[in-house]
Amino acid sequence: MLSIKNLHARVEEKTILKGLNLEVKPGEVHAIMGPNGAGKSTLGYVLSGRDGYEVEQGSAMLNGTDLLALETEERARAGLFLAFQYPVEIPGVSNLEFLKASVDAVRKARGEDALSSADFLKLARAACKQVNLPAEFLKRGVNEGFSGGEKKRNEIMQMILLEPSLCILDETDSGLDIDALKVVAEGVNSQRSEQRAFVVVTHYQRLLDYIKPDYVHVLADGKIVRSGGPELAKELEAQGYSWLAGHEVSA
Ligand code: ADP
Ligand code: MG
Ligand code: MG
Repeated sequence: MLSIKNLHARVEEKTILKGLNLEVKPGEVHAIMGPNGAGKSTLGYVLSGRDGYEVEQGSAMLNGTDLLALETEERARAGLFLAFQYPVEIPGVSNLEFLKASVDAVRKARGEDALSSADFLKLARAACKQVNLPAEFLKRGVNEGFSGGEKKRNEIMQMILLEPSLCILDETDSGLDIDALKVVAEGVNSQRSEQRAFVVVTHYQRLLDYIKPDYVHVLADGKIVRSGGPELAKELEAQGYSWLAGHEVSA
């Protein structure tokens, strides 16, 4: 589903990703952990095509499509979904309008008809319920004045509505209380399927108690330096990242 080979990318004049390899198959959940500044968020930004992030070398394919050749909006239509550490606010655009426009665009790209406003409203209300957000949040400006936890729930709701094939969650757990963390995890778990894969970036093992990953990777200095199963996350939690120094294993 996602195949990243020898990815090198820079921001400004600084090379951040230095030969990253990652293979994700349909149905899998991969967790990416690693020290601050390792390049975890940069990976998400590069895959999403954010301005200022330049690919120097390597490739990233999603379901056989060259992601790096697509415009940002086209990547979403190709089935990529990213939930960022800091969701953007779009005052003046209602959450419902924003969601409908995003879903219409993705449906169109999949060759499906746009949903009627009434049908979409039903789906959106059901999604609100699933993530424990009152339906009034559909009328508010996108993320406008939402608390940290509400923003994260809102992103999971968006993910549920968009039905992407690959979801990347960047530190969706940071700053969440335990209830919000469980809502996010349940949202993710409810969307797990044979047709969909997840890459979950997290600092803490805690989230992985709720979202059970198939694989755990350590990203350090722009590369995956270690890969393993869920037990790797537990070792990291117990011992930090320093014990990895000198034990680099290429993925
Ligand atoms: P992580 O998410 O693993 O904590 P990031 O991907 O956010 O790490 O950052 C990796 C490195 O890239 C850091 O050293 C950071 O300072 C640098 N970096 C990220 N964005 C920019 C930018 N816009 N300009 C310059 N340096 C940046
Ligand atoms: Mg960070
Ligand atoms: Mg980050």
